[in-house]
Amino acid sequence: MWTYNSANALEKSLPSIENAIESENVCHRIAVDGGSVDESRTILNRYGWTVKAAQRKGIPHQANEALAMVDTQFFAAFEHDIILNPKWFERTSRMIGSDDRTGAAQGLRLYAGSKTMQAFEEWMYRAKRIPIWSFSIDNTLFRTEAVKQAGGFPVEDPASADTILRKNLFKLGYRWLTDNTLLSGHYRKNFLEQFKHQVKSLELARYYWSSSPETSSVPRRFISLLGGNPKHVLNMALQSRMLRVPLAWYTLRLQRGLYLALARDTKTVKPVPMDDWYLTNFLRAVAISGKSLGGAGADREVDRFHSADRMCMWCGQRAEFVYSVPEGWENILPKLHPGIGPTFFACSDFHAGKIADKIFKDAFDYVAPSPPK
Ligand SMILES: [Zn+2]
Repeated sequence: MWTYNSANALEKSLPSIENAIESENVCHRIAVDGGSVDESRTILNRYGWTVKAAQRKGIPHQANEALAMVDTQFFAAFEHDIILNPKWFERTSRMIGSDDRTGAAQGLRLYAGSKTMQAFEEWMYRAKRIPIWSFSIDNTLFRTEAVKQAGGFPVEDPASADTILRKNLFKLGYRWLTDNTLLSGHYRKNFLEQFKHQVKSLELARYYWSSSPETSSVPRRFISLLGGNPKHVLNMALQSRMLRVPLAWYTLRLQRGLYLALARDTKTVKPVPMDDWYLTNFLRAVAISGKSLGGAGADREVDRFHSADRMCMWCGQRAEFVYSVPEGWENILPKLHPGIGPTFFACSDFHAGKIADKIFKDAFDYVAPSPPK
């Protein structure tokens, strides 16, 4: 755990961690503190945690100092504001132990404490707008060897240690599993705390991660800056029956939007690195699925398509091949581009690649294969 003036949250998180993990499964409880001037250290000691003063402040630096002290096959990383689900250890340890290529296993965390923040995320969770492959390093069980092989917690961008670590693990062939039914709390005392937290993390980030900057149009970006689809905000307010929800939502979105629109000079936009990794794999799988429409090898299954439909979805020329969205990528199917079904035609592998690229980038946020059960 990495802490900095965390007393308030620690009173919530430490007992929940103690409750979720039986002491026989714990070798060390290590906290690396970034120079707290509040009661953080006292509270940590009271719950049996060893507190080490950080040599360098910042999440990845503090996490790496803690990692250097790990001498077990697995370790858990928690942020100071996690209210851990009582079943967390039971379920994540089963996930990570099922296969030695699993490098990380975690659940989801949704805001707790602040009723407003809770209303946002409960709505998003119920509306399935939180991707099932969401990830973070704050309620996560890691395979020590995997993280060490990946070079530890990346220090490149302090606000994106999770994103970059996940990419690095993928590159080594490790999986990062998320059980999106294993819900923990993410403590925020009140809305103001979230407001301040967001400013800090925007300030901290060296990059703005963007899944596909070139495909998002100016009107779309404008709507997003103003808070996205107003229907969603209305639903949120109705479901939670709280009038302050829309105000809080637009305040946070505007804060973020303005910040991202203004402060570009010292910061850069980078595509989400998993996107590249996934996109490559997706394109490859689509290419492999290609079957010729003519000739002796033509598939019978193709016959059920009307010949008039056999046009390249990219250029409109006569199609030569049929492709399908590969198995295991089911989560993008409901988001396929209009006119493109799970099976589509193209004149060439090149244009099939263009279509697959568009399917991928039009999908909500970004896409990933369904995690193995
Ligand atoms: Zn074409």
